[in-house]
Amino acid sequence: MREVDDPYLQERASDIMDVGRRVLNNLNGDGPAERFRLDKPSIIVAHDLSPSDTALFDRKMVLGFATDLGSRVSHTAIMARSLNIPAVVGMKDASLSLDSDIPAILDGYEGLLILNPSEKTKFEYGQIEQKRHAVEEKLTKLRLTDAVSRDGRKVIVSANVELPDDLPMLQPSGAEGIGLYRTEFLFVNRLELPTEDEQINVYRKVIEASSPHPVIFRSLDVGGDKMFDHLGLEEEQNPFLGWRGIRYCLGRTDVFETQLRAICRAGAGHKVRIMFPMISTYEELIQAKTILQGVILDLEKENTKHCSDIEVGAMIEVPSAALIVDLIVPEVDFLSIGTNDLIQYTLAVDRTNEKVAYLYQPTHPAIIQLIRLIVTKAHEGNIWVGVCGEMAGEIMLTPLLLGLGVDELSMGSIFIPRIKRVIQSLSYEEMQNLVQEALKLSTGKEILELLEKVAQANYPELLD
Ligand code: PEP
Ligand code: MG
Repeated sequence: MREVDDPYLQERASDIMDVGRRVLNNLNGDGPAERFRLDKPSIIVAHDLSPSDTALFDRKMVLGFATDLGSRVSHTAIMARSLNIPAVVGMKDASLSLDSDIPAILDGYEGLLILNPSEKTKFEYGQIEQKRHAVEEKLTKLRLTDAVSRDGRKVIVSANVELPDDLPMLQPSGAEGIGLYRTEFLFVNRLELPTEDEQINVYRKVIEASSPHPVIFRSLDVGGDKMFDHLGLEEEQNPFLGWRGIRYCLGRTDVFETQLRAICRAGAGHKVRIMFPMISTYEELIQAKTILQGVILDLEKENTKHCSDIEVGAMIEVPSAALIVDLIVPEVDFLSIGTNDLIQYTLAVDRTNEKVAYLYQPTHPAIIQLIRLIVTKAHEGNIWVGVCGEMAGEIMLTPLLLGLGVDELSMGSIFIPRIKRVIQSLSYEEMQNLVQEALKLSTGKEILELLEKVAQANYPELLD
């Protein structure tokens, strides 16, 4: 099939290879985890990896990975970041032309996979590693400081958590709570749904690890690039526009209610927040809240201990929700902007597709306008608003988010010290003016150039 003169059919060849490998693994009696059993620390090169594959990685053995497909904000890349594993995605056909067991350097900063590096290259990379290590050391000293701008504006900096394995990173990073706990990864790589008790155990561990700071549990967000076998998700033509996030939960109220009960019960005696992903209509939010109220009522009737004053939030990640934000605000205690999806849906760019990655622009004027609208309406309604997409951990974009008035930034733990450092170096008032300047420009590229100048002037030591 690789010889066929049709790129679509050529692509299918790798599907057949993959099925073949899986059949062989199963015949050998090896489960999915076996696929990543490595004898020595290695870089994995693959055509594609799913988020469920990434969840199976052994941090000690997987030094990094490179894939032909994928982009920076696919959940595979997000998982790699939370595992602190370097990754390069969108390498086109690298997996077909490489042999196993060759020495290589994977440079996740520059997006390079260097094969058979010379002694000189190895030496240079050794130097880069040392330099970066020294900067990291300095930054860790900032972990217990607050993210307060030069003129006194405080931003809460919290962590995104995907797997319970991420929890030990929380305290050392200086996170002020968990701003996004992606609960769906508890449902991955297994044959049955997790029971209520099993979920309670995990959620309690999460709450304890974050204590005394709060945790925001995001209700199950499957679909899109998170297709897990036992959830009854079927293949769809456009999975990102399909049965995803809150749509799935409202269709599978059995799964949803079990999860909500587990969160409420695990939260007994703690400060717990819950938010709903992929809200695109007002009705969805009301339905989700009604189901939550029903669950709380049942727990009260049963006299089961639970968190009684749970705070409820909506994720704003679909443009329709952003545009009706004034209707959403009175219904919730907080908002969290999921920029990964907000960018994908606003700019009509599949977040996992490397061919259109050049169009995936966080600094596109439309994105800035939408964030400004969301923050303005949230503050008018006296609620706080956070950002939990990958934008929150990008030092180049912090001036923009600070100037836009965002109250909380939630990101992979490894980014927290440097984002604190960036906020401490900036003036809120100046960044508000920067947003005005940015909105006079016409393109994402020009706005990014403006931000690069601000970064160079305020925190040059973090840039190389
Ligand atoms: C987002 O869309 O920005 C977000 C945080 O959710 P996820 O990346 O899990 O879709
Ligand atoms: Mg999202």
